[in-house]
Amino acid sequence: MTASPEQIAALAEELVGLLGERGVTTELRGREKASVDGAKMSPILAEQLPLGLADIVAFPTSAEQIAEVVAAAVRHGVSVTPRGKGTGNYGQAIPLEGGLVLDMSKARAVVEVGDGYLVAEAGTPMVTIEQAAREAGQQILMYPSTAQSSIGGFLSGGSGGTGSIKHGSNMSGDYVLALDVVYASPVAELVHVEGEAAQPYVHTYGTAGIIARATIALEPLQEWVGFYASFPTFDDATSVIREIGWLSPTPRLVSADLPRIANALPADAAIPKDRASLRAILDPSTVEAATALVEGAGGRVEEVREGPQATVKISMLSYNHPIEWLQKSVPDETWFHVEVSGAALVERLDEVHEVYPGGLLHIEAQRDHPIGMLAAPYVSAEEVYAGYDRLAAIGVGYHSPHQWFVDHEVARTKALAATTDPDGLLNPGKIPTGETVPTGTKWVGPKSA
Ligand SMILES: Cc1cc2nc3c(=O)[nH]c(=O)nc-3n(C[C@H](O)[C@H](O)[C@H](O)COP(=O)(O)OP(=O)(O)OC[C@H]3O[C@@H](n4cnc5c(N)ncnc54)[C@H](O)[C@@H]3O)c2cc1C
Repeated sequence: MTASPEQIAALAEELVGLLGERGVTTELRGREKASVDGAKMSPILAEQLPLGLADIVAFPTSAEQIAEVVAAAVRHGVSVTPRGKGTGNYGQAIPLEGGLVLDMSKARAVVEVGDGYLVAEAGTPMVTIEQAAREAGQQILMYPSTAQSSIGGFLSGGSGGTGSIKHGSNMSGDYVLALDVVYASPVAELVHVEGEAAQPYVHTYGTAGIIARATIALEPLQEWVGFYASFPTFDDATSVIREIGWLSPTPRLVSADLPRIANALPADAAIPKDRASLRAILDPSTVEAATALVEGAGGRVEEVREGPQATVKISMLSYNHPIEWLQKSVPDETWFHVEVSGAALVERLDEVHEVYPGGLLHIEAQRDHPIGMLAAPYVSAEEVYAGYDRLAAIGVGYHSPHQWFVDHEVARTKALAATTDPDGLLNPGKIPTGETVPTGTKWVGPKSA
């Protein structure tokens, strides 16, 4: 339901009273900036852009102001699309029906760091949280490769990253301890939910309630080192990726790339050209065992780097980032990718690559079986979708990054949103209806993290 110019003008006036002139914008440039995310990584979505344009953008600076802004929007009948850093790569943060974009980037206080937990406002960057935890001798269980993204966005749209080998995904139930959420209510209120009651708001794009403040688990700080190895071939690297992931204490991250993808990464002496690259964040006590595995597979250790900066750098070359670098390295070509998983990524690597002509796999170790991104030159949406069955036929799990629908606990989310957002004002268009769910919305087959 699109809001009328009168509704937007009335909301703008109220929000200026609440947040000041600088806390609200109706300028086209600001609205356009607030209406894009990483969807351009998908050529299928990119062909449909722009998928929506905000009518107004608000910048609350605290959890309480987030609640005030949502209540004002509800009173004026204007839809609300929450936004963290806007790095979600499926159009999750695009305001499909216009309305208000609630930009959280100024609500970024770390409120409290306690023994085993940290409380932060929705817009706090993950790197800030990791730093605050570190200063208290602790660490967060996991963070995404988009380390500058917000905790609210990671909890609402993300799933895993550095730390996932040990801790799985942010939906596992151990990651989020409590949330302060805001419903689509005309009265400003922060609803505190803990434990099990907090989980339905995780990975549901704000459709059942907007996260204003989060309490997440911390664990004792470990010192980590950044471990770089290279191999003559990708087969050599993948032959040991699982064993390196199973070392104890569990590595925080283990990523591997084909020479073609490694060549596209930012220049680094520890990622030599034309060799497969393996990068890991390891407990220092496991470096010797990891070295033996690498050398046993015909590889060599390029460098072991110390310090938090070194390990964050490796995080920022994991998950979707190598694919993004590959896309940037061939600006004249269009590439797509599919999220994939399962032992077959290692055991049937050649067949995985053959699913799409020119297919290239990026791979991440996980506790059970690896996950990855299978990239290939783009021909058509039909060709992309046709590959899904071929992936399933060789035992590869898949998930499509070419759609923006909530893909986790959909029935539960619908039922909750019916009570917390009866008029469908929160991030409208993201909860799938029967007819509009494209193939691959849900994970099919084996899944990790
Ligand atoms: C190159 C690349 C690499 C990536 N790597 C990873 C990775 O390693 N792991 C991973 O999980 N993801 C990854 N992503 C996806 C995304 O970057 C992360 O999930 C990120 O943490 C999202 O945070 P954000 O602040 O950018 O959220 P946004 O993109 O702003 O929002 C994400 C979703 O959450 C909603 N939202 C935002 N804030 C709130 C809130 N406070 N309350 C309720 N809903 C909210 C938005 O409406 C949207 O639906 C990657 C994306 C790209 C492009």
